[in-house]
Amino acid sequence: MSEKVKVVPCSGIGKVHGLLARELALKVANELCAEITETPCLAYIVTEDPEIKEKIARGKCVTIDGCPKMCAAKSVAHAGGDIAEEIKIIEILKNYRGVQPGNATALNDDGWKIVDEAALKVAARVQQVYEGEV
Ligand code: SF4
Repeated sequence: MSEKVKVVPCSGIGKVHGLLARELALKVANELCAEITETPCLAYIVTEDPEIKEKIARGKCVTIDGCPKMCAAKSVAHAGGDIAEEIKIIEILKNYRGVQPGNATALNDDGWKIVDEAALKVAARVQQVYEGEV
């Protein structure tokens, strides 16, 4: 069996983009790809604790970032993680111009629709990563 794929969202508090990143990660990791993923805590990764560094060094990572600061991707890379895919909420939202997905604390129906649709694509990508097709 392959090593589980680590799905790591940014921790964006105070922006709907961060909330979208976290909900997208949870939809993929807890529902669509529960058997082949795990979600290490970004804050733990940032500490560069030897235990988490060793963990993310095994297998591949998929990061999900809310904004161009790319905190999840940068942190995982800095800790030695092998990133197979960097998901960007900003890019996803280009397909939903003019749509207001909610606010920093709660998604509305449009926000959940974005999460659900994006999650299907991310899950397909995660499956490819797990199967070593990348
Ligand atoms: S990527 Fe952007 S939204 Fe996410 S934690 Fe960093 S600054 Fe916040």
